[in-house]
Amino acid sequence: MRRHTQSVNIGGVFLGSEYPVRLQSMVNTDTMNTKATVAQAIRIVEAGGDYVRITAPGVREAEQLAVIKKELNRRGYRVPLIADIHFNPKAAETAARLVEKVRINPGNYFDKRTIMPQEYSESEYTAELERMHERILPLIAICKEYGTAVRIGSNHGSLSNRIVHRYGDAPKGMVESVMEFLRIFEAEQFRQVVISMKASNVRVMIDATRLLVAQMEQEQMNYPVHLGVTEAGDGEDGRIKSALGIGTLLLDGIGDTIRVSLTEAPENELPVAKKIVQYVNRKANPIFPTGETEGEIVWKQENFRSSAGKPVVVLKREYQDTDAEDVCVKAACDFGAHLLNGIGDGILVATPALNPPEKGTEIALALLQACRLRMSKTEYISCPSCGRTLFDLQTTVARIKEKTSHLKGLKIAVMGCIVNGPGEMADADYGYVGAGEGKVTLYRRREVMKSNIPEGNAVEELINLIKNNGDWKEMPTIHL
Ligand code: SF4
Repeated sequence: MRRHTQSVNIGGVFLGSEYPVRLQSMVNTDTMNTKATVAQAIRIVEAGGDYVRITAPGVREAEQLAVIKKELNRRGYRVPLIADIHFNPKAAETAARLVEKVRINPGNYFDKRTIMPQEYSESEYTAELERMHERILPLIAICKEYGTAVRIGSNHGSLSNRIVHRYGDAPKGMVESVMEFLRIFEAEQFRQVVISMKASNVRVMIDATRLLVAQMEQEQMNYPVHLGVTEAGDGEDGRIKSALGIGTLLLDGIGDTIRVSLTEAPENELPVAKKIVQYVNRKANPIFPTGETEGEIVWKQENFRSSAGKPVVVLKREYQDTDAEDVCVKAACDFGAHLLNGIGDGILVATPALNPPEKGTEIALALLQACRLRMSKTEYISCPSCGRTLFDLQTTVARIKEKTSHLKGLKIAVMGCIVNGPGEMADADYGYVGAGEGKVTLYRRREVMKSNIPEGNAVEELINLIKNNGDWKEMPTIHL
């Protein structure tokens, strides 16, 4: 059953438990390029997007949103637009006068010092909260006047120093990061608010969202929730991670709008988002026409015991689908909650109708990896890119995968920009981050190893970095 929430009006397309789960995506064009941005926004709408998000790094881009909106309206598209803001209250205030919703990141709305550790005394902490309250007032006043909604979107990896110092770089910190803002919004009686808790680690995303909902309930708040696994990557892995995080929470009854983030064209995200919502709805409201049976997960108790003496349980389900994407989405929704809750010692995803039929094993391994239960290949964390990206992220990810896909268990992040990339790649071992036109900065965990290297050499430099740190293995030779 859907968790009850209040409704939020986003340009006439209402959001909340009284309405269908809304789908959205974000353009990855340069916001100043009206033609490309409008064309991509239209593709998102045509693919089923209820809202379109556009980055506004500065006031100039925020003002440009009016031009984009006018052109979309002229072409008959009245889709509500959402401005994506980091680090720039002035851009948020400008955008709030022009579009239907503004997304702010509580970790960096005022605080640019997201990585440097800093001690906070009780009085310094309180003073910072008061300063925050003062500084958010102009945005609240504009949103009230123009009927603009706000999303408070917390991202693991871009929490403020204040929060990390007090609550840690963990789900609890993500929740408090949002609650600080929510309490201010409530005190100012502004309630057109949506919340999100995003992380590239699916477990962190799910734990943080569940914790947030519990905390809101404790404080008698019922704001709608936006779900998404950020930097999920591309291909089947990206689809599985997204369906695992989003599907598991939707099955809990949590979630009112979703975004599947893929390192692909944004319009590719909508069919996956639709499949997740449809499958969850079907699982929640099963209707079996006469003669049709719906397979459920079979709990198979094996005849052998674990080293701890417990019976070994294998979760099994057969899918008759002929499309691998359908199986990825369904299996993630079916197995996710069990695996993440520690149930099951093994899984079997049977796919007799897929070509080849053994594809199910690949999907099962990807699912276990997404749950961080069994690492059987390199883990890629890559952002979907946006107007801040100055290189072709998709091609770069493909080139890096080609060279590093044999490094089992290593986590490699490929991020579009230096503004958010380093913080949001959170738990990656190595990071390849766009640092400006034709420039890349390489990281080992959160430490900068090489700055502003030319893009042409950057993949080779990344490989050298991995080699110099002893994490490289030669690719196995295949003898034909
Ligand atoms: S990390 Fe990627 S998606 Fe996030 S702001 Fe930078 S370029 Fe955009």
